[in-house]
Amino acid sequence: MKNIFQPDLYINSLDDLDLKRLKEEGYRNILIDLDNTLAPYYDKHIDERAKEILDKMSEEGFFVVVMSNNHEERVRDFLKGTDHHYQSMSLKPTKVGYKKVLERYGLKASETLAIGDQILTDIVGANRMKIFSILVEPLVEKDSFSTRINRQFEKILYKIGAVKK
Ligand SMILES: [Mg+2]
Repeated sequence: MKNIFQPDLYINSLDDLDLKRLKEEGYRNILIDLDNTLAPYYDKHIDERAKEILDKMSEEGFFVVVMSNNHEERVRDFLKGTDHHYQSMSLKPTKVGYKKVLERYGLKASETLAIGDQILTDIVGANRMKIFSILVEPLVEKDSFSTRINRQFEKILYKIGAVKK
């Protein structure tokens, strides 16, 4: 059985994503985390880099949904001025948000990638859904309070060898 904490792929930066190859492998959709994946949690609005990353994914032919555990206002305000799809209050790592998104847009889990900076939410959630999980290094070291707690667990997972980069 697959280790629920282990990402299918680990990348240092979103710039390292080989979108063409992933497309060739049959993936069609990307669920991407917001806080500390696309932008630091304290950045209120989308910046040029995040814009470029999302646009590039769309241009490569991927269906993109920003999937965040943060509240509606946070995600909506961050994406203001763009037309990207999003799901707030996703409740990762439960299956609730993933199921909503897959159903709403008619996506297959087997054709979907999930990208995020946290093992305990983004990776465990995707793995439970049998969605290809991609762990990206957090953008900044500063985390929100709840994430700081998760980071302590992550440290333990690395230390005991439960997760390998
Ligand atoms: Mg995050």
